[in-house]
Amino acid sequence: MDTNKIIITIDGWSSCGKSTLAKQLAKELNYAYIDSGAMYRAITLYFLRNHIDWTDNLEVKNALNEITLSFEPNAKTGDSEIFLNDENVEYLIRDLIIADKVSDIAAIAVVRSFAVAQQQLMGTKKGIVMDGRDIGTTVFPTAEIKFFMTADISVRVERRFKEMFEKNPNVILEEVMHNLEMRDYIDSHREVSPLKKAENAIVLDNTNIGMEEQLEIALKLVNQFIG
Ligand code: C5P
Repeated sequence: MDTNKIIITIDGWSSCGKSTLAKQLAKELNYAYIDSGAMYRAITLYFLRNHIDWTDNLEVKNALNEITLSFEPNAKTGDSEIFLNDENVEYLIRDLIIADKVSDIAAIAVVRSFAVAQQQLMGTKKGIVMDGRDIGTTVFPTAEIKFFMTADISVRVERRFKEMFEKNPNVILEEVMHNLEMRDYIDSHREVSPLKKAENAIVLDNTNIGMEEQLEIALKLVNQFIG
């Protein structure tokens, strides 16, 4: 193992630009990037497609036994993309239909232990940037650098709306806002590893700063740490 390599965790509210920062940092440092939210989204896609009753714990456990998740780099962009049982579902899982249900499914204890175990395995060699909701608190509580990202809800809604509008001009602003508020509420109120700032996490509020400036701040902190 390269002893200089560290684990960087990025948690925070929905649509704060966590994945943008995580991807940028991973690129700068030549680290792996893992989007843990994509794992919960892919599980949700599987449950919806297969009409799994997620209030039935046994049905959920059996369904999880049928799921294999993996990440592969996109041949053109190099960005890591998620595969559900060998099918690339990176784009399908960004739909509002998935966003609508994902927080309910991500709150189920067996779903979380299924995903967390795989996430922890991905970090055994360090040199990884992972974003999500419980990465600094539960997945890698001893990570060397932890960020907690936040931004005003109006800014977050606007960003997510613009992003979704490019793919689907029929998207409705109010629906996007409702979805973000609902997910933030469920994610921060669930019993198992709720979204919260790890005690030693550095807060990054990007309400009034751009992504480039934010990267500069984060990179400076990382470089101070790794020397
Ligand atoms: O990051 P993203 O918005 O794609 O995550 C989708 C959902 O997955 C979140 O709203 C949350 O319910 C769940 N999630 C989670 N824990 C993580 C990452 C995501 O519960 N580490």
